[in-house]
This record gives sequence, C-alpha cells and structure tokens, in this order.
Amino acid sequence: MERYFFRCCRFAAGRWGHGSADGLADSDGIAQYLRSLLAVPSRSMAIFPIRIYPDPVLRSEVEKIDVFDEDLRRLADDLFETMYDAPGVGLAAPQIGIAKRLFVADIGEGPFVMVNPEIVETSGEWTFEEGCLSVPDRFWEISRPSFARATGFDLDGNAIEYSGDELMGRVLQHEIDHLSGGLVIERLSKAERKQAIAELREAVADDRLGRP
Ligand SMILES: [Zn+2]
Repeated sequence: MERYFFRCCRFAAGRWGHGSADGLADSDGIAQYLRSLLAVPSRSMAIFPIRIYPDPVLRSEVEKIDVFDEDLRRLADDLFETMYDAPGVGLAAPQIGIAKRLFVADIGEGPFVMVNPEIVETSGEWTFEEGCLSVPDRFWEISRPSFARATGFDLDGNAIEYSGDELMGRVLQHEIDHLSGGLVIERLSKAERKQAIAELREAVADDRLGRP
C-alpha cells in the first residue's frame, strides 16, 4: 500500500493538485467545484487559521446544530477551503475556533459533511500512522477500530450515514473525537502521551520566544 500520512489528513490533497506547479489554477477549480456543490454562488470562501494544541477551543464543549441555514453552509464552505489549503482530509469546526458539531472530510472519494455526527458502530483493529492538523508535524502509530459507521445529518438536515474501513473508518473516528474535545494524543500510551505533551509544550514555548 502506498504510504501516506493521516493528518486530519494529508492524503486527499494530491487529488486536487495542491502543492503542484499549477496549484493556483487548481485552487480556483476547487473553489468553483465547492460552490457548485454547496450552492453558494457569490461569496468567496475563507481560509481560517487552524487552532493548534493547547488552544482551549479544541477541548471545549461543542454545540449541537439545530438550524440548517445559509450560515451553516458558509461554515462548511470555510472548513472545506481551510482543509484543502492545509492540506488535510478532514477538519472539524473546533479546529477553526467554532465550537459546533460539524466536520468536513474528503479521503479522495469526494467531499462530504456531517452535522451532529455520532459513531454508532465500530469493529476490527487497525494500526496506522496518525497525526492532526492541530498537533502539527507529529505522527504516531495508533491502533483504533478499523471499521466505523457514523450517523448524522447533511447541510439540509437530512439523515445521512457514512461508514468504511481503514482510512474512512479512521477519519470518521478522528473527526468525531474532535467534537467531544478529543485529540489524537489521548490515543497514545501513558508514556508516549507524557513525552508528546512535553515536546508540544516546548514547541509552543519556542514559538513564543521565536526560537527556531
Ligand atoms: Zn485532528
């Protein structure tokens, strides 16, 4: 299997040509495609800064969504734009500072949105190198159930469900973790977690002090 990283995730980016010499043209193509998909004809989408650990919004309670309106479509638009720009294959609303129960994803099979998603079934086990856009540049071999099935709603409030093995199962679990304040580091062993948190604190301190 081709080796690729899951960092909320990077895998699908190549599909859209990010990072290629013609990336600019491709970005326009993506914007046009997403506007057609999400029926937002005039507003240009916005790329938001991705919130990084230990930003408290990543740990906050998220609000269940009960209004399926234009603002929700805009939020989904912005999440897609930010995710493709990162690039990643999944992004949850708290990662751009919005404490709402919504995520977007594209594992290379087309973009999808889940509103108020819940994992309703898991099975098997799969170990995979996993990272997170909110914990940048770090990857760990993490075991989780291989298969996951999630139910939720689309942007019109229709009941939907997504399921899959391996990368699809991983994205569903990872993104839905974000909607209950969960981060990939909680999936590590105690010793790994301790080391990861120490490294992350050091990285944050270096960043604040402007150290390389
Ligand atoms: Zn993540």
